[in-house]
Order: sequence, then C-alpha cells, then structure tokens
Amino acid sequence: MAENKTDILTLSLGEIKDFLIKKGEKAFRAKQIYEWLWKKPVNSFEGMTNISKDLRTLLDDNFVIQAVQVEYLQISKDKTIKVALKLFDGVIVESVLIPVDNRATACISSQVGCSLGCEFCATAKLGLRRNLSVGEIYHQVVEIMKLANEKYNLSLTNIVLMGMGEPLLNYDNVLKSMEMVSSENGLGMSPQRITLSTVGLPRMIKKLADDKVKFNLAVSLHSANDRKRSEFMPVNKGNSLSELRDALVYFNEKTNQRITFEYLLMSGINDSLKDAQEFAEYCKSFPVKINIIEYNLTSDKRFKKSSNDAFNEFVTFMKSRNLVVNVRRSRGQDIDAACGQLAGKQ
Ligand code: SAH
Repeated sequence: MAENKTDILTLSLGEIKDFLIKKGEKAFRAKQIYEWLWKKPVNSFEGMTNISKDLRTLLDDNFVIQAVQVEYLQISKDKTIKVALKLFDGVIVESVLIPVDNRATACISSQVGCSLGCEFCATAKLGLRRNLSVGEIYHQVVEIMKLANEKYNLSLTNIVLMGMGEPLLNYDNVLKSMEMVSSENGLGMSPQRITLSTVGLPRMIKKLADDKVKFNLAVSLHSANDRKRSEFMPVNKGNSLSELRDALVYFNEKTNQRITFEYLLMSGINDSLKDAQEFAEYCKSFPVKINIIEYNLTSDKRFKKSSNDAFNEFVTFMKSRNLVVNVRRSRGQDIDAACGQLAGKQ
C-alpha cells in the first residue's frame, strides 16, 4: 500500500544518496532524482525519463511521491479557477488560481479543514481532518503553476497561504515546502512573493521571527477589540490582542518586515467608526499594510457583508490616518472559490 512507503519528498539530497549507495547504485543519480522531485517536479517515478527502468522500479518499491491529483476544476466568469485536488488517502483539498492582469496568484491550503472555528468561515465548519505533507503543499503550487501556464499563458507571480487551514499549526511542513518553492533547487520563486496568512498565534509568530523567514506575514485581525474578536474568533480567547501585538513587534524587529493586516468587513459586527478607530490605534506599534476584505457569503446567515456606505466610510477613515490601505473585492464567488468559501463542496 502506498501509505506504508516513505514519502521520498521528506528525504534530503544526502539521504537519497545514502539510499542509492546502500542499494549499490551510482551516487550521482541522487542529484538527477532530486531534480525530478523539486525542480521539474513529476508525480510518479515513471516520469523520471533519464533514470533507468530498473532504478525507477527500485524507487517505486521503496518510496512514494506524495503529490496531488487534479480531481476537477471550476472556472469563474472572472477567470479565477478553483481546483479540487485528490490526496493519496482520497481526501480532497482545494487550491485557487487568481489571474489579475498579467499576474497569477496561487492560493494554497496548508491543512485539510481547520481546527480554529472562526464563526464566519466555511472551512471552519469542516473541522480539522489532517495536516498536509510537504509534497502536498508543494504540489499544489506546481499544479496551479501548470494551470496558469496552460489556461492563461501566465507564469506564477505570487503565492498566498490563504486556502484551507492554519499554516502555523502545520509549521514544519509549511516552512519546508515554501523553502523549496523559493530554493534554486526548487521553483526559484522569491520569498517576497509568498505571503503566509495566520489567524495570529503569538508563540508561532515569534518562532517565525527566530527562524528569520523571508516571506510576508499577514494576520487575519478582523477586530482590534478583545471582546468582539473572541466572539467570532474563539482562538482569541487564549491569545489576546496584546500578546499578538507583542509577537508582531518582535517579528518586525527581528525581520525588519512590515505586517499585513487583513480585515474582513461584516455588517453590524466590526464595521463601525469605533471599530475603525480601535483598528487604527492597534496599527501604531509597527509598520503595517492593510487589506480591507469584502465578506463572502457562507451558509451561516448571521454574517453579511457591510453596506457600501459603511465599507467606504471605514476605508476612508483608515486612509485618513495615513495608513496604507488596499481594498480587496471578492473574486471567484460564483464558484465558491473566494476567501472563507473553501469547503470541499462540488
Ligand atoms: N487560517 C489562516 C489562513 C486562512 S486565510 C488565516 O486565518 O489567516 C483565509 C482568509 O479568508 C482569512 O483572512 C479569513 O479570515 C478570511 N475569510 C474567512 N471567511 C471569510 C469569508 N466568508 N469571506 C471573506 N474572507 C473570509
């Protein structure tokens, strides 16, 4: 059974070399195999065309490549594509390609489902099934990259870890896969084009800082008021906004990077002028960039998007405080591919 064999994507180049030597094979083959795994990634040993049939069989007998298989695609009228990817155990995970002008962004999942229970998010309703492996994260990028090329003749320009799951609760696999995405031995994408989005776990944000990561950090804030935030984001109960602020100050000091805040505007919940004032106050501790996001409807009808007036007033207020504010209107809504809508429904 495939599940019982080691996933070769968890091996370093040195470990592949050791395996080959032990089996009486030439050590230099390791480099070729490593390239087929990361640089021009294939999802089966059969695809490694400059490797002998015998060696491919040997690899196949001992390892699996924990990649993903495209199960189906949905294409939105705004050209956003949602891909359902099938994993080795039959579980489905979703990734999204967002083409805008001549840029193409891959929105990648880090877990199947999510454990954090944010009330407004469709993924939360699934609960957590499991973490994704390094290969499963990496190969989502590979598949989206292929799609961008085939469908729109675009190269992949950005990656956002904003699909299903909480990346900081699958820390090692997320970091390893992004390291390979940016490595010269992998896809060679600049880490500055990668953004990890988190609900904001202070302890893990400090770890990112200590690990001196080079990618961007985005925090789904959605409220700068502890009482309110705890109401719709239960994770806030054990991780207060002041702890989060301390961790972000630390992150900024260690990495010299500014923080991106995501703020989802929900009618009557977090879109008043007072909410904006609290948010602006919270932004004072470090350099920030703000993305104000339009709420996408999920099956939970308690949450609705803000009226245009409330939305515009909120944005105008934030801008009046000299903050860098981007407005992110929703994309791919007609196929449930927008933020917070990934829930594995066909
Ligand atoms: N767990 C991480 C990664 C998921 S990113 C995080 O929370 O950041 C998904 C983004 O979509 C988050 O900013 C999330 O708050 C936002 N989101 C969730 N539900 C949404 C909805 N219904 N409409 C718009 N954005 C939503």
